[in-house]
Amino acid sequence: MAADAIPFNRPYATGKEADYIAGAIANSHLAGDGPFTRQCHRWIEEQAGCARALLTPSCTAALDLAALLLELEPGDEVIMPSFTFVSTANAFVLRGAVPVFVDIREDTLNLNERLIEAAITSRTRAIVPVHYAGVACEMDAISGIARRHDLRIVEDAAQGILASYKGRALGSIGDLGTLSFHETKNIICGEGGALLVNDRSLVARAEIIREKGTDRSRFFRGEIDKYTWQDVGSSLLPGDNTAAFLWAQLEQAQDITGKRIALWRTYHEMLSPLEQQGLLRRPIIPEDCQHNGHLYYVLLAPGIDREAVLDALKARGVHAVFHYVPLHSSPAGRRFGRAQGELPLTNGLSARLIRLPLWIGLGEVRQQRVCDSLDLVLRESSRRALRRSVAQ
Ligand SMILES: *Cc1c(COP(=O)(O)O)cnc(C)c1O
Repeated sequence: MAADAIPFNRPYATGKEADYIAGAIANSHLAGDGPFTRQCHRWIEEQAGCARALLTPSCTAALDLAALLLELEPGDEVIMPSFTFVSTANAFVLRGAVPVFVDIREDTLNLNERLIEAAITSRTRAIVPVHYAGVACEMDAISGIARRHDLRIVEDAAQGILASYKGRALGSIGDLGTLSFHETKNIICGEGGALLVNDRSLVARAEIIREKGTDRSRFFRGEIDKYTWQDVGSSLLPGDNTAAFLWAQLEQAQDITGKRIALWRTYHEMLSPLEQQGLLRRPIIPEDCQHNGHLYYVLLAPGIDREAVLDALKARGVHAVFHYVPLHSSPAGRRFGRAQGELPLTNGLSARLIRLPLWIGLGEVRQQRVCDSLDLVLRESSRRALRRSVAQ
């Protein structure tokens, strides 16, 4: 990478992380559920208004925990988008369930709530809305469908911290929700995540599964005088040193989010002319959704060669990237899942999407360079696409 190249991501640190990790060492509590974990739990519970927040080693682990809590049986079906990260599906496949992939909406690239009911069968147990780019799915409609068909909702809010739908935090609307604190997300601790338990009846069992199937959480709270094996479980809690890092970020989460939204808006303004010229489409944010500046993507005009655009940007020192390869067309997706129809928007939109660099410290000068490069590269690509179509 050239010296002045603009990387896609640069993890942000508030400056307090090392101090707090030193604090965790000084506390002599490095295992899970120490003082820093408790502070993180309280912060998430207050911010999201969930019955219980539980830190996990990753969002993947939180999804695994959610799938265990739903007590799925082999052959049960779980409705989700195909345009998502593999962990959304893996968690349920590990329980023997079948992911049923439903197409996405053209505006938000989120699960299309209008197509869900057609995918429901007698085996359907749950819906997993994924809030792409921190923009909410249409949760009122999805909640209504879940109620009518007696289905559980697990929100994959990996990208959704401090984003909301009609004023409600993402991850706090379904029965369960999951967050990610992976280094590529807004609020980070290296690898980390959280399970948000909104249905109170699931709290006790969530604690047990997370603590190796024991009632150790109750023991530590002094509610019982010894702990024993109660249920299936695993070790799904991070050490307090990881929570210490996370606490340094949560303390400044509003500030971090504000800075990301400002960067997002700058791109949105700068790219308006390219949209007007028909070279790309910018993200669309429905009125009910407050996003969190998690990522800025554009959809290239149909016919433009995305790989050529990414290569040409790279040659100019701009590291833009594509996103998900739809799960229904991947080897494991075909083996374990089922697509509800042809998923034309999933196929079409995912192939046109590129994500632009967005990190705190990027600054307007670099953002201008990203947009100028994109302008140049897209003009050249669309001329080439036009020549190709004329020659045919
Ligand atoms: C990042 C991400 C995950 C996985 O998060 P990890 O913390 O890396 O396990 C799951 N789902 C979505 C939609 C994501 O963006």
